[in-house]
Amino acid sequence: MENSAEKDPTDLPMSFAQFGIEPDIVAALDEMGYDKVLEVQQATIPPLLAGRHLSMRAKTGSGKTAAFGIPMLQRLDPANTAPSLLVLAPTRELASQITAELTGIGKKKGIKVVAVYGGASIQGQIQALRDGVQVVVGTPGRLMDLASRKELNWKNFQSVVLDEADEMLSMGFFEDVSLIMDGCTACEQVVILSASLEGDTTRLIDTYTSDVVRIDLSSDRLSVEGIRNIYYVIGDELPRHHYLLYVLAQEKPNSAIVFVNTRKDASVVATLMAREGLQAEMLSGELPQKERERVMGAIRAGKLRYLVATDVAARGIDISDLTHVINFSLPEDPAIFLHRVGRTGRVDREGTAISLVSGLRLRTLGVLEREFGVAFEERKFPPPAQMRKDRSAGNIESLIKAAELAICDGFLDQSRAVLDHESAVQIVAYLLKRNGDQVHDEQRSSANRPQHGPPRRDSDKSRRPHSGKSRSSRPPRSSKPRRRG
Ligand code: AMP
Repeated sequence: MENSAEKDPTDLPMSFAQFGIEPDIVAALDEMGYDKVLEVQQATIPPLLAGRHLSMRAKTGSGKTAAFGIPMLQRLDPANTAPSLLVLAPTRELASQITAELTGIGKKKGIKVVAVYGGASIQGQIQALRDGVQVVVGTPGRLMDLASRKELNWKNFQSVVLDEADEMLSMGFFEDVSLIMDGCTACEQVVILSASLEGDTTRLIDTYTSDVVRIDLSSDRLSVEGIRNIYYVIGDELPRHHYLLYVLAQEKPNSAIVFVNTRKDASVVATLMAREGLQAEMLSGELPQKERERVMGAIRAGKLRYLVATDVAARGIDISDLTHVINFSLPEDPAIFLHRVGRTGRVDREGTAISLVSGLRLRTLGVLEREFGVAFEERKFPPPAQMRKDRSAGNIESLIKAAELAICDGFLDQSRAVLDHESAVQIVAYLLKRNGDQVHDEQRSSANRPQHGPPRRDSDKSRRPHSGKSRSSRPPRSSKPRRRG
């Protein structure tokens, strides 16, 4: 009967065990709360368990790390203490995220994973390698450094994963990646993950894989599912940050990333938010590694409410519990918009994305609606005069709160004298203005701070020219221009 209440058992989702995953790994996945085999994992597990090469276009947040991690860890032998799986990632954050996930998946099986990237002590990484590991996850620069110190031998690796391959190439890692791949002469399985499988990435696939399984799960429509998209059209009557502060006061997100288009905006917006009493810190490529880890740790632990970030700094980062993504400014490229909003509403969670849009960028919204099926809700700002009034009331409220907490006993006599003075109103106005000016000075000095450091994020100073030969079919280095935050 068509409408039978009883479900056909073949309709039930298959479990990891039914996909042939061994009990140690299933038990670890259970502990991690992975009770469903996600779409991306259903697609990758069978071919990867069978040892096939694979290239995949899948969005961050789809469960792609476990999609290669589960089957590839299953193929490892914990008794073999020479590392045999190598995972390359473009950024330290992504490398440490992958490491945490692979460590979780492999822990009951006795699989050890080490993360190697610049900006962290190389000695600890060397020690971990000497103690014996099965998996190395790293950024290309630090990996090259360890190999040149003879702490890593490419020939040990039987499988290699290139995660966010397009990003790695666009960051100028083409030669390093090729050298590493050329060195892995015993490698039998190559997995290439990328947001786009075009140009140099395709040539990489052609060079280092054969009979490759190609998976494309990057339907952009998927990436906005479960996300409520709201936009506000902003005018030019007020500075842009007034609109942002108004939105935050209205929406009261539990936790959010505020995306900006430039590093300068990141520092200005974070400063202004903090000044407003909001818990906000910026994440930018130029922050020292320790700082980045501290900021990431704080937002993951729920101790920090707002992260202000450029696309570059936030690429690949998984902060699954974010309730909101705020676009302080809309990116020109619709693909970047989809990447941004994918930071919320990850794997079965709901999220809200709010975009502040000014006249010109309304066109981008149109493209997102027409071509990517994003359904936007419009919200309106009150007239600027009303916003100013609300904001000033809000400012006084936060000033009162801050004043109640501050220890300023030494100023009480002066304060009384001011209040008794016939120009009391003018004097307080001056003090408030001075407070505002201080914010501007802070902005100016952070904007003028030297922007040290090239755009590459793996800050290994040890990268050196190499003379290694690589396969002759190696494609030329990419010169594709990329927008940088
Ligand atoms: P990724 O695409 O690898 O960044 O993964 C995004 C998020 O999905 C991570 O927080 C993972 O922990 C989570 N995840 C991966 N696989 C599963 C699964 N089978 N069930 C639930 N969550 C998962």
